[in-house]
Amino acid sequence: TYDVHIIGGGLAGSEAAWQLANRGVKVRLSEMRGSGEMTPAHQTDGLAELVCSNSFRSDDDTKNAVGLLHHEMRQLDSIIMRAGEVARVPAGSAMAVDRDVFSQEVEKALGDHPNVEIVRERVDQLPDAGLTIVATGPLTAQSLAESIIGTTGHDRLAFFDAIAPIVHRDSIDMSKCWIQSRWNKTTAASNEDGDYINCPMTKEQYLAFHQGLMDGEKGEFQEWEKDTPYFDGCMPIEVMAERGVETLRYGPMKGVGLDNPFDTNDEFPQGKWPYAVVQLRQDNKLGTLWNMVGFQTKLKYGAQVELFRTIPGLENAEFARLGGLHRNTFLNSPEVLDRQLRLKAAPHIRFAGQVTGCEGYVESSAIGLVAGLMTAKELAGEEWTSLPATTAMGALLSHITGDADAATFQPMNVNFGLFPPLHEVKKKQRKEAYTSRAKADLASWINGAREAVPA
Ligand code: FAD
Repeated sequence: TYDVHIIGGGLAGSEAAWQLANRGVKVRLSEMRGSGEMTPAHQTDGLAELVCSNSFRSDDDTKNAVGLLHHEMRQLDSIIMRAGEVARVPAGSAMAVDRDVFSQEVEKALGDHPNVEIVRERVDQLPDAGLTIVATGPLTAQSLAESIIGTTGHDRLAFFDAIAPIVHRDSIDMSKCWIQSRWNKTTAASNEDGDYINCPMTKEQYLAFHQGLMDGEKGEFQEWEKDTPYFDGCMPIEVMAERGVETLRYGPMKGVGLDNPFDTNDEFPQGKWPYAVVQLRQDNKLGTLWNMVGFQTKLKYGAQVELFRTIPGLENAEFARLGGLHRNTFLNSPEVLDRQLRLKAAPHIRFAGQVTGCEGYVESSAIGLVAGLMTAKELAGEEWTSLPATTAMGALLSHITGDADAATFQPMNVNFGLFPPLHEVKKKQRKEAYTSRAKADLASWINGAREAVPA
């Protein structure tokens, strides 16, 4: 018998199990690897296997958002951080681990825990009842994915991400671009100027940019990703460019209906339509992040930064996320999950980890940690006190459970663009201001939670 069923013994599922078990909750942890099943990326049967790099990225908790996430997880006794510390290998200011030692540490901690039963089995159906956490990751087994679709609806679970780069708004040079919607059509939510930031290009700039797309170094698809369907609206920008030099000018880079206020020569009868344009659309409610519309790409990260900084207005762009295209199973969380990660259509089921639309080892683990805490509260019949949105965990959680735009939702790493902005602080000091505010707010949140429930 158990109180909570966790499906998936990856990073998020292991962390959720640890948090629950330490609060006296009996957990059944179902992991399909070890029962004769495998995902295309995993190599072992070990819990919390790192499928690719061995790095948890920056461990700097004063200036870096993922480093801050490390700090917050340590404050909440994360097993992923604990095992990471034991398995740590030298990596400068980053936190890197020996992947085998790491996985063994997690497996040992859970295997030895009296409240955890690890079961090697594939789960094919969302349970009809009983508190459940689904943490089956970016490579969720097909049968379960179909069961999820049965509950959420067909277009609420994606099998590939098609990620367009996201730019920090305060790094865009607005002396070269302007805000306007095509044909001045704006949505109800927009301000009166329009919904898009437009970066105009002359013919020469466009031709050079097109050549840059053709020449730029691209990443390869993994063998098991090769049958990637270029589904509607998700074709990589460089594949479109290969179809002909004009294709992009009739697609995402078309200038029609946009009046370039900087254009003084009358090259076109319309006068002010740019030869080509790169449009950015607001990506979060705070208005701090903007995505490059239609720019999903397999260009390598270095090539993206180099090429996209040739776009007028983006010369000094800072990217919250670069573009990509991968196999990745994830929910349209802003639409189907409530603020506590529960399926609106079946609230006994919580989701955690990368399947919720966060991105990365640390982020997936953090969302697993939070799902565990929320479930423990629910089981105890207590109110959940929201995590402050000023913390890394709170900011990421707010983003995936409602603040991101559901229409364009794509997986997201933690970054300061998700935090309530601190415009009043000078740019040089802003990162430190974000991390100190987060640390103080998390400490009060933890103290508040302790006072509410005396140990
Ligand atoms: P996982 O760690 O994948 O755990 C999910 C678990 O659920 C797996 O163990 C799986 O076997 C199990 N499972 C699936 N379906 C079922 C089922 N029906 N029943 C029972 N068990 C099931 N992030 C980084 O930060 N750095 C990287 O270098 C990196 N590289 C990546 C490379 C690839 C190829 C992929 C796909 C992702 C990568 N990621 C990377 C992204 C992501 O952070 C990791 O995938 C991370 O492991 C996600 O954690 P998770 O707990 O959500 O999922």
